[in-house]
Amino acid sequence: MSDRNFSKETLERWDDEYVWHPFTPHSVYRDEQPLTVVAGDGHYLIDADGRRYLDAVGSIWCNLFGHRRREIDDAVREQLDHIAHSTLLGNTNDRPVLLAKRLLEWAPDNLGKVFYSDNGSTSVEIAMKMALQFWQQHDGGSQRQRTTFMGLANAYSGDTIGAVSIGGIDLFHARFGPMLFEAVRGPSPVTYHRLDDLTRKQAEEKFVAHFDEVLEKHADELAALVIEPGMQGAGGMVTYPDGFLAHAAQKVRDAGALLIVDEVAMGMGRSGRMFACQREGVDPDFLCVAKGLTGGYVPVAATLTTNRIYEAFLGPPEEGRTFFHGHTYTGNALGCAAALATLDIFEKEDVLPEVRRKEQVLAAHLESLWDHPNVGDIRQYGLAAGVELVAHRDTRETFDSTRRVGMKVCSAARDKGVFLRPLGDVIVLMPPLSITDDELKTLVEAIRYGIETVLDT
Ligand SMILES: *Cc1c(COP(=O)(O)O)cnc(C)c1O
Repeated sequence: MSDRNFSKETLERWDDEYVWHPFTPHSVYRDEQPLTVVAGDGHYLIDADGRRYLDAVGSIWCNLFGHRRREIDDAVREQLDHIAHSTLLGNTNDRPVLLAKRLLEWAPDNLGKVFYSDNGSTSVEIAMKMALQFWQQHDGGSQRQRTTFMGLANAYSGDTIGAVSIGGIDLFHARFGPMLFEAVRGPSPVTYHRLDDLTRKQAEEKFVAHFDEVLEKHADELAALVIEPGMQGAGGMVTYPDGFLAHAAQKVRDAGALLIVDEVAMGMGRSGRMFACQREGVDPDFLCVAKGLTGGYVPVAATLTTNRIYEAFLGPPEEGRTFFHGHTYTGNALGCAAALATLDIFEKEDVLPEVRRKEQVLAAHLESLWDHPNVGDIRQYGLAAGVELVAHRDTRETFDSTRRVGMKVCSAARDKGVFLRPLGDVIVLMPPLSITDDELKTLVEAIRYGIETVLDT
């Protein structure tokens, strides 16, 4: 245990010397007071100085029921007494078997099979590869021309090449252009920055019409539409017009193509239903789940699909219809044990009605932020929200990005014991689902304090 006695200064020095952080501009990293976490306790992170911070982004959107949650800790410890990992390639293990059965009980009824991987990006790439191969093998390959994937502008499905290809965030896309495959890009549901000459309703109608037009144009070659249900997360916590997912699902069905819902961020209860597509009564062909699947403990992901898709992959091995894809840690037993304990909590504590109630509590607190003139937009879906800060509310003029306003507001909120991480100038709220009403209040007050500290002086 002696290696837990290093000082914060030592850890920071070694961090600077040895670690390259994801999505992190290292020239400003140290100045922006990064946390050096050494422990967690419920909804709080504990840093090397012993300070506690409310984990208001759920350790990047995956922690559902707090850190060191007894039931999940116990399940992982208990699993260690059996086995940590064994391969799912051509063999099985009891934990992933049980988890698949339990997940399908929660999922839309049309889904019948679970394919495991270990992160959100791969869960989406797997769905895309399955869709492509499905069209080669289904009905003797009569629709093998369906090789095109459609995604939306501003969408995010992860950082591997396939996931970036279908994503629509320019900042990530432009850089890696030469390595990406071509995808058809529908419009972005961002209406906020397009309101100059349109009402919100008109902007939404324009978005839907544009979406329909792109989809119809490519209907015959379309393999699948990939969409984040409920909210575009990394694109800035952007909501869709009401009922859009159901509309898109119908359009995809009319085109004879497949629907892939990327529930990596909004699945696992965030929407007040286990999966966001269930909130709109949508039955997808593929449902991708990762982040919260293990309660934020262990990287496990899953791609759920229908028996119809699965059956197109059956046949004698020599016909080569097998799905040739798999990762070493696919179906990891420790992770599946954590996921099973997570599902137990959903069942025992009746989590979903509570999420729907807290959605209202959060909405009421967020409402109070409107009286700050730099709050341009507030967007919420279930227990997820984004507060967009702008230089001028009237013109929706954004801040110069070099000011790093979002980052500074989050740093200031740290004074109030709240840990946040923004997306540009959008302050993101993705708290644990078990957050209390009092903590929701503290969280929104800390954001207000952060905004006032950075912008009112
Ligand atoms: C985070 C995220 C991903 C990628 O998941 P990783 O585990 O980081 O690879 C994919 N889709 C959505 C909607 C996400 O929020």
